[in-house]
Amino acid sequence: MGKGKLFVLSGPSGVGKGTVLDKLLSDFKDVQYSVSATTRKPRPGEKDGVDYFFLSREKFFKMVENNEFIEWAEVHNNYYGTPKIFVDKCLAEGKDVILEIDIQGARQVKKLYPDAIFIFLVPPSLNELKRRLNHRGSEDEKNMKIRLNNAEDELKEVKNYDYKVVNDRLDDAVEKLKSIIIAEKCKIREE
Ligand code: 5GP
Repeated sequence: MGKGKLFVLSGPSGVGKGTVLDKLLSDFKDVQYSVSATTRKPRPGEKDGVDYFFLSREKFFKMVENNEFIEWAEVHNNYYGTPKIFVDKCLAEGKDVILEIDIQGARQVKKLYPDAIFIFLVPPSLNELKRRLNHRGSEDEKNMKIRLNNAEDELKEVKNYDYKVVNDRLDDAVEKLKSIIIAEKCKIREE
């Protein structure tokens, strides 16, 4: 049994990472989703242990201290981290794992897991991103501004990723993501 592959998906807030991932994971049972920990408050409908592990700052930093994260970062004034235990167990068992994390986290993952595959989801345009964030209605005015400002910086990071997928039509973006995963799993030559 070979080691599993680690996929990292990033993209600015509002680009539709969650929707694309939900659809991908419902068709594609072989990839395990790594649930992140966060100090952000749950949005309506979000479940602890499913969408995130919602932690107090104290608990989060206890995990940081105990070296229980692969990576962690402050994103839009909250903290987010990827628990190590789940990812390493899956990879050791030969299962593929996908992380949905920001660009700072992705940089840390690249150092620890140089064979990971990095995929960046981009909006068709900044205006469209703004429209989607407005439409989602999950953020107040102040948070919206933070997320939009961060988006411009985040989009500059695309050059450090292996793949770029434009999320224009949901089905197309999911198909592209699936194709990338399938191609990577069939790959025999590693540089
Ligand atoms: P949201 O609050 O909208 O769920 O997520 C905000 C941002 O945090 C998104 O860009 C998302 O990719 C990022 N994020 C979610 N989980 C993690 C994580 O475990 N680590 C890092 N570094 N970023 C994360």
